[in-house]
Amino acid sequence: MTDYPHMLKPLDLGFTTLKNRVLMGSMHTNLEERGDWNRVAEFYATRARGGVGLMVTGGIAPNREGGVFDGAGGLYTEEDMAHHKMVTDRVHEVGGKIAMQILHAGRYAYSPACVAPSPIKSPISPFPPKELDEDGIEKQIADIAECARRAREAGYDGVEVMGSEGYFLNQFLVTHTNKRTDRWGGAYENRMRLPIEVVKRVRAAVGEDFIVIYRLSMIDLIPNGSTHEEVVQLAQEIEKAGANILNTGIGWHEARVPTIATSVPRAGFAWVTKKLMGKVGIPIITSNRINTPEVAEDILSDGAADMVSLARPFLADPDFVSKAEAGRSDLIAPCIACNQACLDHTFGGKISSCLVNPKAAFETELVVTKAAAQKSVAVVGAGPAGVAAALTARDRGHAVTLFDRADQVGGQLNMAKQVPGKEEFWGLVDWFEAMLKEKQVDVKLGTEATAQMLDGFDEVIIATGVRPRDPQIPGQDHPKVLGYVDVLRHKAEVGKSVAVIGAGGIGFDMAEFLVTGESPTENLPEWMKEWGVTDPEEARGGLAPAGPQPDAPERQVVVLQRKPEKPGKRLGKTTGWIHRAALKMKQVQMKAGVNYERIDDAGLHISYGEARERPEVIACDNVILCSGQVSERALADALEALGKTVHVIGGADLAAELDAKRAIDQGTRVAATL
Ligand code: NAP
Ligand code: SF4
Repeated sequence: MTDYPHMLKPLDLGFTTLKNRVLMGSMHTNLEERGDWNRVAEFYATRARGGVGLMVTGGIAPNREGGVFDGAGGLYTEEDMAHHKMVTDRVHEVGGKIAMQILHAGRYAYSPACVAPSPIKSPISPFPPKELDEDGIEKQIADIAECARRAREAGYDGVEVMGSEGYFLNQFLVTHTNKRTDRWGGAYENRMRLPIEVVKRVRAAVGEDFIVIYRLSMIDLIPNGSTHEEVVQLAQEIEKAGANILNTGIGWHEARVPTIATSVPRAGFAWVTKKLMGKVGIPIITSNRINTPEVAEDILSDGAADMVSLARPFLADPDFVSKAEAGRSDLIAPCIACNQACLDHTFGGKISSCLVNPKAAFETELVVTKAAAQKSVAVVGAGPAGVAAALTARDRGHAVTLFDRADQVGGQLNMAKQVPGKEEFWGLVDWFEAMLKEKQVDVKLGTEATAQMLDGFDEVIIATGVRPRDPQIPGQDHPKVLGYVDVLRHKAEVGKSVAVIGAGGIGFDMAEFLVTGESPTENLPEWMKEWGVTDPEEARGGLAPAGPQPDAPERQVVVLQRKPEKPGKRLGKTTGWIHRAALKMKQVQMKAGVNYERIDDAGLHISYGEARERPEVIACDNVILCSGQVSERALADALEALGKTVHVIGGADLAAELDAKRAIDQGTRVAATL
């Protein structure tokens, strides 16, 4: 008897059966564009081996004008065909199923060749699109249908027609982007003509025994988006046009509501999919912020969907399904929805990977094999770098002892998890513990490792992390001054008005911690109110007419930095805007280009610029130092002074811009060579 009977139940589509209700959703890894198709094939085959029911590829362009950027991966040449065949062959060899997503970006394309229903530039591309005429529209339909036919010829089990997230087909549906007055615009019947026509022509091109998924935007989260009534009408027409499955799309890319970030509640949009259940006869997939088998099972047993889509969790752990089948969900590496190594990389033109699993999309590069001879390895520091090194060293077959002076593993993550909206870090620390136990690492907590204790180990890895930087501000020993460690680790009391020194990741986290009461991430109605999300039956696009209604801030907070640039500019590419918007909603003040003059009973004295102009006192109960950190290298230095060779990783190696992504990556790579 399994713990996940609904999730692991096969789905019979008539001509084919999916072995369970888990779909790996589409993700763009940037691998296709590098031309290393062996690596693309291995990426998918690794996930197929892990038992997922069906995978959808990253978006594949049906023609040049539809590519998300010039040169984006497509399927419209014979050369493309051979590449895709490598992928499908490899997936089928290991018993998997894979559908290709056909993605036409329309006005979202980062290319001067982009086309759209109307010539309205999108806020996320600098290129104004060309308005399509009747022949142009016919060409797009024909290209999409031909792309689907080629996908079948290339061996795919199906296609997903991308109709959501504000891409080309979605752009025809709403007046926000479709101002046409011909048969493709105006009344809703006209605006939905294109998606319906596309699905009909795709079905005609691929025959009956082929999976056609349509990804339908169920809540647009933009002004003048679709109503729920329109969504239902479209879903029913798409079913009639020949789709076998409907997948859920949530929000356009230009929406100002977070939809997949870590601060979005788990399964936070399953209610949207549920509204469509019973209104069509084909299976419906739900998606967004589903990252554990327990969450998936709850959704399916509640009847909110027939199947679940998880994308990033398959970067974190390709064996998500097989571990759930084995009753070991505690061993599933959790996706913490940080976007740091996946979407931030995708949009930065880098290969997507995963903070938790640096092997993701590096399956052919970062291969951990058994070492020829077993060694004894000591790892000092049980933060992300140390744990990653310890686990990898065990995979190499070494005997590993992991020391930490704290009484818990996780290092700085134990502070991050206190921040509202970062609850997922709890799961990551739990996973570290479960894996260390499973892999039989000898963990010695509450133990300060000394040079003497490390004598006798074949290899010593130092992952002692960081300590807070001393900003040397006159008066910083005033009782109102606290460090971030005092607040997040030692739970120091904080007054009602606070100045935060430093506007890096920790300064922003601290501000969020100080202004938030109960975390909206743990309370879906509250989160919806905070971001102005409502039922699309109540308001077009699911945007509440009154806009965001956040609770009043718990404290008055000012965040400061010396650099004259916009505070928060260096936060994650896909999440920085969310942190900035969240703090703005809570009336947090930002001050850049400041000098810290002194701290005294009156508060924090600052001035601006090199000439130290405009002196100002920020009256506050507390000043909290979040001024970065420096490497904790004392042990490494002591060992090196004794002539020992050590491997220094993580923050102990380089404190600047340290984050868990770099720490885990370095820990894994260093241990993989021992
Ligand atoms: P950080 O990002 O390097 O920021 C340090 C802040 O302190 C900056 O605002 C800096 O601004 C200020 N500062 C530096 N030297 C100072 C000095 N001598 N006196 C006063 N202020 C000084 O470091 P962090 O905030 O400690 O974060 C550490 C790392 O954790 C980051 O690199 C980040 O990647 C990671 N992190 C990420 C997130 C996330 O959401 N992704 C969240 C938390 C932490 P000025 O020099 O302009 O004053
Ligand atoms: Fe999830 Fe972060 Fe990994 Fe992306 S990088 S898959 S969001 S854990």
